[in-house]
Amino acid sequence: MGRGRSGMANGRVGAVPLGGVRSAFKSGTPARVHHNPFDDVLEQLDRAARVLQPDADALEPLRHARRQVIVSVPVKMDDGQLEVFEGYRVVYDNSRGPGKGGIRYHPDVNLEDCKALAAWMAWKCAIVDIPFGGAKGGVACDPSKLSEGELERITRRYISEIFDLIGPTVDIPAPDVGTSPRVMAWVMDTFSMKKGYVEPGVVTGKPIPLGGSGGRLEATGRGLLFVTRETLRRVGRDLAGARVAVQGFGNVGSNAAKLLHNAGACVVAVSDVSGAIYDPRGLDMPRVLAYYRETRQLRGFPGTQLLDNQELLRLPVDVLLPAAMESQITGDNAAEIQARIIVEGANGPTTREGDEILNRRGQLVVPDILANAGGVVVSYFEWVQDRYGYFWKEAEVNERLEEKMVAAFDAVWSTKERFEVDARTAAYILAVDRIIEARTLRGLYA
Ligand code: NAD
Repeated sequence: MGRGRSGMANGRVGAVPLGGVRSAFKSGTPARVHHNPFDDVLEQLDRAARVLQPDADALEPLRHARRQVIVSVPVKMDDGQLEVFEGYRVVYDNSRGPGKGGIRYHPDVNLEDCKALAAWMAWKCAIVDIPFGGAKGGVACDPSKLSEGELERITRRYISEIFDLIGPTVDIPAPDVGTSPRVMAWVMDTFSMKKGYVEPGVVTGKPIPLGGSGGRLEATGRGLLFVTRETLRRVGRDLAGARVAVQGFGNVGSNAAKLLHNAGACVVAVSDVSGAIYDPRGLDMPRVLAYYRETRQLRGFPGTQLLDNQELLRLPVDVLLPAAMESQITGDNAAEIQARIIVEGANGPTTREGDEILNRRGQLVVPDILANAGGVVVSYFEWVQDRYGYFWKEAEVNERLEEKMVAAFDAVWSTKERFEVDARTAAYILAVDRIIEARTLRGLYA
């Protein structure tokens, strides 16, 4: 039990029944009592439907995931014991194209969360107008407690279990929380070995030598740059000189901060889990990035004030970019946020109560399903390049990303103006309208 690979919270049974087989199975319901994010999905559908007034028969199927699969993933651990993990894969909708969505490795992965995350992928792909539906999956495990060998065996067995349900024209996974390009390489290899030929298009977010795309690592941050620039433009402001605070300094936050700085914005604060650094005159981002690479922390960067993450959210800036995790702007702190524009880099950084307060106070929230869609757009480009076996220069990827993000931004903005709603509602309306349009054109099969 010492390493607690999946942990008791995950329902792992410590005793060793039946000849050394231990079970890491959870019961069908999540171990912790928590807000069910699928309720939010249904609420978003209702919100869009109130405006769109679609035919009930067109809307009803969208309230259900198309396919939900639970598999058991038995794996021999390094200590010789067998453990059985639980794996999931949900395709929420595939009216506009094959399923697309990440693989998450986290102790709390469960079916309801996968359903909600898959639905959000469907909305996101529709907003940026790429020919995919929405999917999500994962394995309930704690990757920080697994050796590389265990991680590889879990991945290969999980992919073997869902082998018939994925493929370049069926459902295309990608990295998500707890998985990486390394894991995607094992996904590609397992699928290809079982097929008997190389199939890079089965998964995106791969390392470049295996058919990954240039520009993928920075794509979400770069998409945020374009969306921030377009938002400022719409309110008559320039990106150059705009004061920005970024919460979170991982893949999304650090790349967004770097690219915003390079484009002339004045990034005054950035933070990681240990706290924020603030310089009202603007941070020297190349030096901050070099310091972070060396020390793996922001704390202690010379010449800056150390703040906590709550203080960062309250700074007097033009743009606040929460890029760390969910539920950071809530009913408790939203009234203290001074930024006129909030661009959601993370998924779900604003709770429903927080959102209502920001809207009431006239602050402009650019929703996650638009703002952070740059990653899935370049995943789409990776899939296209894999399928025709010809790879673009990174500059070409970035240019096409800009085109897609600006078009998506314009579409959300004109929906917002047409229906006189906030940007988040506009994004749901646009997504649901595009999905219903595709469903209606296809008609009901059989
Ligand atoms: P990451 O793990 O690379 O980075 C997360 C960052 O947040 C780290 O700097 C961490 O120190 C910081 N952090 C963690 N807890 C915090 C807290 N309580 N307060 C402040 N900072 C905290 O993750 P990422 O890939 O950058 O993803 C960040 C968010 O963006 C997630 O919500 C993710 O789902 C979303 N997202 C990521 C991508 C992508 O391409 N990576 C795409 C779309 C959405």
